Amino acid sequence: MRRKLVAANWKMNGSSAANAQWIAAWRSVASTCDTVVCAPFVYLPQVGAGLAGTGTDLGAQNLSEQAPGAFTGEVAGEMLLDVGCRWVIVGHSERRAMYGETNELVAKKAARAIALGLRPIVCVGETLSERDAGRTLDVVAAQVAAVLAQCSVAKLAAGALAYEPVWAIGTGRTATPAQAQEVQAAIRAQLAAADATAAQQLRILYGGSVKPGNAAELFAQPDIDGGLIGGASLVAADFAAICAAAK
Ligand code: PEP
Repeated sequence: MRRKLVAANWKMNGSSAANAQWIAAWRSVASTCDTVVCAPFVYLPQVGAGLAGTGTDLGAQNLSEQAPGAFTGEVAGEMLLDVGCRWVIVGHSERRAMYGETNELVAKKAARAIALGLRPIVCVGETLSERDAGRTLDVVAAQVAAVLAQCSVAKLAAGALAYEPVWAIGTGRTATPAQAQEVQAAIRAQLAAADATAAQQLRILYGGSVKPGNAAELFAQPDIDGGLIGGASLVAADFAAICAAAK
């Protein structure tokens, strides 16, 4: 039985004051599933301190594929561990689309995270034009295959995969539970072809305009093991309601 996991992706949002308010609100609710807050790099110490004792883990939104050294502006996985991160988002579609992250780079970052003992949340998903062209399963399979070329399913199972259709991220347009389940079942079958046991353990999250009102129906699908939540995670009460739906 896979425990549900719900991760907040704050993206490039927040301030010291807003984070403190969010944490105060979060501390007043009891989380009912595994939870992670992925905050911007500069706020990781603040958010980590605020989450202490809540049972909610700290995560980052990216890491370098390199070991520490002369890589101006980059952040190494070692540094994330040093400030208390247990998780890191890898290959979010915004990084793939706006910062040129390829399947191969995403796979290297996932492998680097795993080698350091950080749990990656590896994001995959198709664009609207790819879906309209009937290429969804092929595109997602290629993204997953690139990761599997560098990381075994058993090692990936320490982290998670997140199926995030690009057309559903931040658009208010959610994949239907059936659409998400179809892709996530295909991902699990692909993982199972490599390692049937580990494929049953690896959590596959859904992300894309998850809200308190649609979370329960999505999370009820057999291959949806929780969510990666962007916009709705910025309001602690909404994030808490989504986590409650994952009970
Ligand atoms: C995300 O950024 O991972 C995401 C799913 O965003 P949103 O929930 O806002 O669609």
